[in-house]
Amino acid sequence: MAEILVLGGGVAGISAAWHACKTGREAVIFEAKERWGGLLDHFMVDGFRFDNAVHFAFSSNEDYRKVLEMTEYITHKPEPYNYEQGRWLKHPVQNNLFPLPADDKVAAIKSFIERPDQTENPNYRQWLEQQFGAVIADRFPARYTEKYWTVPAEKLSTEWIGNRLYRPSLDEVLYGAMTDETPSTYYLQEMLYPKRGGFRSFLEPLAGDLDIRTGKRAIRLNPANKIVEFSDGSAERYEYLVSSVPLPELVQMIDISPDAVKMAASSLWATSAALVSLGFNCPQAGEHLWFYIYDKDIMPARVHAPYRKSPDNVPAGLSSLQFETYFSANSPLKSNADELTAHVIQAAEKMKLASPGDIIVSDFRVLPYANVVFDRGMTGRRDYVLEYIKGLGILPVGRFGLWDYLWSDQSFLSGKRVENLPV
Ligand SMILES: Cc1cc2nc3c(=O)[nH]c(=O)nc-3n(C[C@H](O)[C@H](O)[C@H](O)COP(=O)(O)OP(=O)(O)OC[C@H]3O[C@@H](n4cnc5c(N)ncnc54)[C@H](O)[C@@H]3O)c2cc1C
Repeated sequence: MAEILVLGGGVAGISAAWHACKTGREAVIFEAKERWGGLLDHFMVDGFRFDNAVHFAFSSNEDYRKVLEMTEYITHKPEPYNYEQGRWLKHPVQNNLFPLPADDKVAAIKSFIERPDQTENPNYRQWLEQQFGAVIADRFPARYTEKYWTVPAEKLSTEWIGNRLYRPSLDEVLYGAMTDETPSTYYLQEMLYPKRGGFRSFLEPLAGDLDIRTGKRAIRLNPANKIVEFSDGSAERYEYLVSSVPLPELVQMIDISPDAVKMAASSLWATSAALVSLGFNCPQAGEHLWFYIYDKDIMPARVHAPYRKSPDNVPAGLSSLQFETYFSANSPLKSNADELTAHVIQAAEKMKLASPGDIIVSDFRVLPYANVVFDRGMTGRRDYVLEYIKGLGILPVGRFGLWDYLWSDQSFLSGKRVENLPV
């Protein structure tokens, strides 16, 4: 029997077990996959390392910073870009309109000046129009929303925004329309990445001494008898259960869940990400660390350059790019692996990132859970489900356990809540 049984070996589960062990308690992690790391893990293809989508570390939290300091890292200044119709705009576009034709800038600025007043409880589209004016909203963030969140902006709430979207003054919009020598207004000043071993290396100092059992997918849970059953036929008893399993799946595992809870849980949905990862036989594919794509006829929403995160991610002198295409039950992926890969290769050529002849490595895979979707009313339904789970004595943690838009530091901190479990 495990005193504290942790489901999931991503950063949240690792943090939970690590914090438990630090206070002298016994914790065991059961991870469905053959490797721990979850979204922060990577995969190797012929000497090229690809993280599970773009990942950088940043945090104002002292505890998480201390964890990051245990690993040698590279500090990057965030300078993302935006691609639209053959143009490259600095990020965020609203105060970097410089590359647009004059007529487009005039229309964007006029609409910024005439933007509607703020209202109470707007949907995301209304919010975008109230911040940036309809022209910028429609052309950039609303279009991006359909690619990234897989729903029209009017279907989303605004609860997830936080400091993610910069709200410029009129002076900043004007200035950025006249020159590209604009100051950085990105919400982070620096982003960290391990010198060696991919993002997962940041977790190695924590995971090193933990009891992590891989290949253990929990499939059934009996909270009355405190027993978890696994897909390999084994079962474990526990005193306390910590779960980073996606909330809707956890509810399905519990036979006694009332229908109302099951219904609320099944209304929660997330996007998935199809990753096309390419390795190039040239030293510099693309010019940016990462960038966003607004064009509807290019399926990926975001691209990053693993070789720019760290040269350790590629064989000496070579380069790599990874393309993220989002889909969901609401907006299924329209292509199979080969079709999407061929589309990405064409798009890479169109965006002048690299020539197809330089490609020496190509990989396609899917992250089933990428971002939880904040459709309107979602947080109320989620909180109802979370109350039920907590009422069963289960501690939910992590991005999908808590069903929230958490960065890795927040997922880490959610695991620290294990310290509140009674001794
Ligand atoms: C595209 C993308 C980009 C991101 N970029 C950044 C970034 O730049 N910086 C940043 O800080 N954060 C970033 N994040 C967020 C970060 O990835 C998450 O906050 C964090 O990795 C979540 O960790 P977790 O442990 O909660 O979940 P996961 O990493 O998903 O871990 C959950 C684990 O549970 C396991 N599991 C699931 N079901 C079961 C089961 N039934 N039984 C046993 N095990 C199970 C899974 O296999 C998985 O290993 C990004 C996320 C995405 C999707």
